[in-house]
This record gives sequence, C-alpha cells and structure tokens, in this order.
Amino acid sequence: MTDRLVLWDIDRTLIKTGGVTVDIFRAAFREVTGEDLTHLPDLGGRTDHDLITEALTAQGIAPDEALIRQFFVALTEGLRSRRDDIVASGCVLPGAGAALAAFAEVPKLVQSVVTGNVRETAYEKLSMFGLTDRIDFAVGGYGCDDGRRATLVRLAVERASQAYGRGYAGDRVIVIGDTPHDIVGAHANGVRAIGVATGRSTTDDLVAAGADMVLASLVDTDAVLRAALGT
Ligand SMILES: [Mg+2]
Repeated sequence: MTDRLVLWDIDRTLIKTGGVTVDIFRAAFREVTGEDLTHLPDLGGRTDHDLITEALTAQGIAPDEALIRQFFVALTEGLRSRRDDIVASGCVLPGAGAALAAFAEVPKLVQSVVTGNVRETAYEKLSMFGLTDRIDFAVGGYGCDDGRRATLVRLAVERASQAYGRGYAGDRVIVIGDTPHDIVGAHANGVRAIGVATGRSTTDDLVAAGADMVLASLVDTDAVLRAALGT
C-alpha cells in the first residue's frame, strides 16, 4: 500500500451546522467591532480569514491581523456557547462516519482536514458530531493559517509530510470537498480533488471546477474509497 493523505473539508462535506453559524459570525462581529454587521459575505467554501477580512473591509474597518485574531477567538467562543443549538439544527452528512471509518482501515493512510474554519472551531464542530477520532488535527490546514484555500492545502501537505516523515504529493494526496474552492485549492497544489455535491454546488459546478471525480454524496462507502484511492 502506498502512503496516502486524505484531507477532508468539514462544512457540507462531513457535517451541516444549520444557520447557527451565521448568527455566531454576526455576534462575533458585534463583539469585536462594536458594530452590527452590514455585509454578510457568502460563507460557502471560504476561509474564516478571508470572510472576516471581507466583512471588516465592507464595514470600513481596517482588517489588521490583531483584530482578525480577536475575531477567531470570538468565533470559537461563540461556537462553544451555541453547541446545543448546533447539534439540534445540524447533522452528520449521510455516509460521513462510515467513510472516515473505512479510510481508517486502509494501511498507511492518514486523515486530516483542510477547512476554512480556524483550528479550534474545526475540532469543536466535528467533536459535536462525534467525528474526531479518525482525524489528525495536529496536521491539516485551517482558516486561521491564511485567507487562500490553496495555501491551506499546501500547509496541510507540508505538516503531514513532516509529522509522518513521508513525502506526500500528487495523487497520494486526496482533497474531498463540496465547493469549487476545495477543487481549485487542491489542483493549485497538484493533488487529487474529489467533489461531493452535498453543499450548494451541483455536480456540474464541481465537474466544471475540474474535480477528478464527483460523488452525489458519501453514502456509498465503496464508491468513496474507489474515488479517493483510484482502485
Ligand atoms: Mg465545505
């Protein structure tokens, strides 16, 4: 078996969190700036760093790094405080748990995440739905690292290569996500991109973005394994 690195997107790929995350974003904005948010960015597939920068700029507030860091903390605290609401309104997407478990059985395969969420919220969100066990959060790429998703993929590959002493690259790295951002970020790094049409993007959108394979969902575990591993 070849060394492989599977990098999962979180929102609308593994879980859905309902509309609560928009409320949390608005509350964090108010807490950090003292103002009500007037421009809600399109949240899908974007990094928190990018979203915060856009929201602050649209409000006429300079998006300096210290303010963005405060925002990250407010988002994480907001998420923790709304845990019950998120669990009530959100869900694990069908097949996600089985897919994580199936990959965990593949020898020499490591699973982590590339997500627009900051590291703490990535962990919190998956922990709410019982999906943390198979994922190495010490590696991965997070929305606190950079605004560009392609950079998050690069960092995830570098961190995993260093942590595991392996040279992950090319089709040994598989990004799985629900938006064209996930696909483009993967291909910018020359790695494999699997689209899952469980978010707002359609199969056609993901094909048009250049996905190596698109699945309607994660329900068929064998199909997920085949798509990712090329077997
Ligand atoms: Mg997503």
